[in-house]
Amino acid sequence: MTDCLFCKVVDGTIPATIVERTETTVAFRDIAPVSPTHVLVVPTRHVADLDEAVATDPGIAADLLTQCARVAAREGLADGYRVVINTRSDGGQTVQHLHAHVLGGRPHAWPPG
Ligand code: 5GP
Ligand code: ZN
Repeated sequence: MTDCLFCKVVDGTIPATIVERTETTVAFRDIAPVSPTHVLVVPTRHVADLDEAVATDPGIAADLLTQCARVAAREGLADGYRVVINTRSDGGQTVQHLHAHVLGGRPHAWPPG
């Protein structure tokens, strides 16, 4: 998609600190981290949100979650971590390209805000 921020990160038009690329995902550091480790994992294929991914191909969601766990291991989050997928307005989604936040390096409270 031409006018999508995270498609531009995927194709390199917008620079980002890349953590790891796979055939189906790109992991990169969030520009405004809220935890010592804050990595975003996105599918290389443009889908707007989790529902669109599942409707298009559930494998997109499976690959995304698998890669979140691999990124957490790579980042050394042995004490645990949180994966967040904000979805549309009530979920607090601000970028309309599916992404998972991998948060770690400190305890995370529950419930979230
Ligand atoms: P959302 O609120 O949609 O779940 O999360 C969007 C995330 O994207 C936010 O945590 C925000 O800091 C991050 N973000 C927004 N613009 C950029 C950018 O240009 N580069 C990177 N690396 N992260 C971004
Ligand atoms: Zn996109």
